[in-house]
Amino acid sequence: MRYNMYDWAKDLFPICRSITGQGVRDTLKYIKTLLPDLEIKSIESGTKCFDWVIPQEWSIKNAYLENEFGERIIDFKDSNLHVVGYSEPVDEWFSFEEIQNFIYSLEDQPKAIPYVTSYYSKNFGFCMSHEKRKKLKNCKYHAFIDSEKKNGVLNYGELLIKGKKEKEILLSTYICHPSLANDNLSGIVVTSALAMWIKSLKQTEYSFRIIFIPETIGSIAYISQNLEELKNKIHAGFNVTCVGDDKNYSFLPSRNGNTIADKAGMHILNHAVKNYTQYSWLDRGSDERQFCSPGVDLPVVSIMRSKYGEFPEYHTSRDNLEFISQKGLQGAFSVIKETISAIDKDFFPKLTLLCEPKMSERGLYPKINSKDNHSYIEAKTIMNLISYCDGRLSLIEIGNLINQPFNKLIAIAEKSYIN
Ligand code: ZN
Repeated sequence: MRYNMYDWAKDLFPICRSITGQGVRDTLKYIKTLLPDLEIKSIESGTKCFDWVIPQEWSIKNAYLENEFGERIIDFKDSNLHVVGYSEPVDEWFSFEEIQNFIYSLEDQPKAIPYVTSYYSKNFGFCMSHEKRKKLKNCKYHAFIDSEKKNGVLNYGELLIKGKKEKEILLSTYICHPSLANDNLSGIVVTSALAMWIKSLKQTEYSFRIIFIPETIGSIAYISQNLEELKNKIHAGFNVTCVGDDKNYSFLPSRNGNTIADKAGMHILNHAVKNYTQYSWLDRGSDERQFCSPGVDLPVVSIMRSKYGEFPEYHTSRDNLEFISQKGLQGAFSVIKETISAIDKDFFPKLTLLCEPKMSERGLYPKINSKDNHSYIEAKTIMNLISYCDGRLSLIEIGNLINQPFNKLIAIAEKSYIN
């Protein structure tokens, strides 16, 4: 089944998302057209969530920067990256020197507009290309931002899919970035496709919890409202982010580093992808910071393409629809799907006999015992697998020990002498 993830990204790209507000609601409404069972939930501004408080909703109608000659330097209508996220309203004149304090640009990427936010301190600002900034005339500037902060809600989407077990696999992605593609529109569309694929399966072993939340405040709020349930139920989890380009694969472990999500994620990457970058917990930067924090301790990892913070286009206007592709999205979708699938089918195999089975009696051993014989090598794999089937290691863990792919091992494990 091919999911048109790139087309969904094209539809969602122009929406001005933030951690709260209409952009988030429009995004969730769109996801609900793909996943009709998605529940759209809300938490009121002012609600205390651990050390944090749900902020007021931010909305913006219009913004521009004009010089004294009436030339419009920046217009919010051209790109929603032009205004610092959560900017206070402003309608004031500034000198050339003063306005510099409210302009953000990147000297080393002169054509890119940076993505800047100021959620928790009162601020305003404009973002523009450095190229354009250098051409600004030494004159007065009129800064105009028609924005508003008012009590409202923080919205998120939640989809629960029942499996045979109460234990769950968590997929979480964030919905707060405006027109940025790899970080993190890619996460929204890949998670939607994964949810559609899971829904299409007749029966899964594990149940699934799929959440679309604003980054940081959203995961903190979600954990604060569901902590005990998450701690009791989550067997493995994935923070789905930066899954859209086709340059590379990346893996970010959980804090624990040795959970089944870690073992399965690395297992699939090792076998399905030639090359990937292994990051450490110290390279974290997304919602795993909350999911894996002390006392929460959920087994959450990230399987990514180019990781946030590591590609030059990150958090700039260059992380656009040209940076991602259907091929990139599809690649990430497949690797995460394989990982989930392996976790769902994983079990603790146990040999039903004592000592080695007589392989030749079962037609599993080559007639000629020569080490370069293909069937000899295959028989060796079977024997290696069997040697670990004491019921204490899962099939994924054995796969990692004997360096053999899960799908091959599950085919072998279905033979009668293992259960
Ligand atoms: Zn980001």
